Amino acid sequence: MIVFPPFFSGVNLSIFNMAKKIQSALQIQKGVEQPDNLNPRMHQLLGRHKKNILPVNDYVSGILQGDRVLLSQAITLIESAKPEHLQIAQQIIERCLPYSNKSIRIGITGTPGVGKSTFIEAFGQYVIAQQRKVAVLAIDPSSKISGGSILGDKTRMQYLTRSEKAFIRPSAAGEELGGVARKTRETIILCEAAGYDTIIIETVGVGQSETAVHSMCDFFLLLLLPGAGDELQGIKRGIVEMADLIAVNKADEDREMLARQAKAAYQNALQLFPPKENGWIPQALTCSALSKKGIDDIWEAILQFKKVTSENGYFEKHRKMQSQFWMQESISEGLNKLFYENPEVKLAIEKADEAIERASMTPFKAAEQILDLFLKTQKK
Ligand code: GDP
Repeated sequence: MIVFPPFFSGVNLSIFNMAKKIQSALQIQKGVEQPDNLNPRMHQLLGRHKKNILPVNDYVSGILQGDRVLLSQAITLIESAKPEHLQIAQQIIERCLPYSNKSIRIGITGTPGVGKSTFIEAFGQYVIAQQRKVAVLAIDPSSKISGGSILGDKTRMQYLTRSEKAFIRPSAAGEELGGVARKTRETIILCEAAGYDTIIIETVGVGQSETAVHSMCDFFLLLLLPGAGDELQGIKRGIVEMADLIAVNKADEDREMLARQAKAAYQNALQLFPPKENGWIPQALTCSALSKKGIDDIWEAILQFKKVTSENGYFEKHRKMQSQFWMQESISEGLNKLFYENPEVKLAIEKADEAIERASMTPFKAAEQILDLFLKTQKK
């Protein structure tokens, strides 16, 4: 983003005043002549503004060299609503694709307050000490304003915020989970091309976003609190089932005992689920993100997971399946857009709604007719 010098807004104001004067009928007297341009640097500044977008090559070579500023700017293009930005973003992603894939993608979920940010700070620090580079991304479809509600508070990630080996990006703003998730997935590609070999994708443990995160990570970690059942923590059964590892956080001070009991209960519960296709037996562990205890065990479990699933071929197979899933998602998204934004279809749906209300047509017949109409508009 270009930061304009303070006088720039003054220029805008003066242009506005000037325009007002020219339009005004009272401007009849020949007064002091207006200068050609209020600020000789204005063209230069505007020129710089236009040049804000660099050639694709610059982004790609910057990203491949690990330049975080260019990486950030490229992600901003991915998140943009402007078609011309998205077009450039697609070219950057395509060029970065061959350099991605060399990473472990870890999804982390848990209800607000469970300690996700604190955990990511401790975990990230530990992983960086293992000579790795960490990118922290988030999926939070509830955040309509850029910045997101999760990861917005970086005070709990002070080490990672300062570290050169970490890259933190809050959730893309947007109302639709599908769009936010797609952008995050594309962001993962760029981060990997920039050399981040450990990708953490955070989401809050309520709603649909877990499924979206699950569809883009290799390993799914669920953080829970000691001493409360998962129903009490607002965690749905399906989410527990998705987990490759459950970590009972805040196992410190007087909660250590409670955390150990919770861990044993979860370990038992996990064994009741049918075996997973990936050949991995989900585990339960305890940790304290605050006092950085148990982080090493969690990292060891992740390495072990990667070893097991790489050896049995699931790791690669799963990533391919995820890519196919994302292709299908993109097709559905594109088709939906094409269909519902078609003016003839819009009109036909309105009419069909009325017909269904009057019970003069069945919904199935109406759908069939509208689909036929859509196909005809495509042949034109
Ligand atoms: P998030 O909403 O899941 O990201 O949770 P935060 O990381 O913001 O943590 C919520 C609160 O729990 C903060 O006050 C943290 O200091 C505290 N917290 C996080 N992890 C631990 C832990 O391991 N032990 C203790 N005692 N407190 C923790």
